[in-house]
Amino acid sequence: LTCRNVIEFLMAYLDGELPAAQRAAFERHLSVCPSCVNYLATYREAVRLGRTAFGNLAPASPAQGAVPEGLVRAILAARRERA
Ligand SMILES: [Zn+2]
Repeated sequence: LTCRNVIEFLMAYLDGELPAAQRAAFERHLSVCPSCVNYLATYREAVRLGRTAFGNLAPASPAQGAVPEGLVRAILAARRERA
């Protein structure tokens, strides 16, 4: 999996639409690639700000923007390795 793949798969990943094998590869990449972790953090921040700005207009979708548990672990693992 490359950084480009991670960005391409990001939406599907966050929507829970990636097959298990791809999801595992995605999380493995994040655990070793700080730049993708940073990208993801930036992306999530943008989503959060977007929802704040357009929250009254967007349809209710509890799953949207939710962070899967495995992803949180991958990010924490990446941070630990850098520290
Ligand atoms: Zn990467």
